[in-house]
Amino acid sequence: MLAVLPSWFSTKIGNRDDRAQHHMLIPAAAEALDALARLTGATTASLARALPAFGTAGPHSPVRATTACRRCAARHGIHQPVPVHLPAHRKVCTRHGIWLSDAGQPQLDLAACPEIIAAQRQASRLLRRCTPQELMLAYQAAARAIPAWPSSPAAIPLHWRHRLLTLHTANHRYGTPTDLDAYTHAAIYPDAIALAARTIKQDPLANSPEPPHPCQP
Ligand SMILES: [Zn+2]
Repeated sequence: MLAVLPSWFSTKIGNRDDRAQHHMLIPAAAEALDALARLTGATTASLARALPAFGTAGPHSPVRATTACRRCAARHGIHQPVPVHLPAHRKVCTRHGIWLSDAGQPQLDLAACPEIIAAQRQASRLLRRCTPQELMLAYQAAARAIPAWPSSPAAIPLHWRHRLLTLHTANHRYGTPTDLDAYTHAAIYPDAIALAARTIKQDPLANSPEPPHPCQP
């Protein structure tokens, strides 16, 4: 099918993550959807509903490719990894305390770090004040601003490096390798969300790539 479909599909299959999407892919999506509809005989509306890559949620609800929470899947009797697209800001299954690593990476048990689960709830509440895209930008900027190392030995227990060690220890018993990016992303998450929340509450438009909304008369 890829041989007869526009190159949009090959590019998209190579990288299904909306967060790293080339800017030329978005305008080409409509044409790609039309081509798939002609080839399959299905309507564009039903294809768009079934395939998250066509962004029915709109550009303000970016998704990321990940794997469904293994414990949610197990409740439905499914024991294989299930690829899913989730809203990009959702990193944790708050019901089971599982860090939803990027696709292909093992999930992390967060029971030893309940503050990470609490941070996910805080992130979801922030969506009452900003768009998903503003939240994502504020979170990414905050994650970069968190210091890599504690300022002094006395600050270690409050620093994310301490949380990182706790996660390593807790997940080691599942045989999860300790050299995954997911550990750092999870360990830094409460600090990054707290900082992002302060930025959003101070000035929600500071992180927006769009001009401020026009004043209503
Ligand atoms: Zn779950």
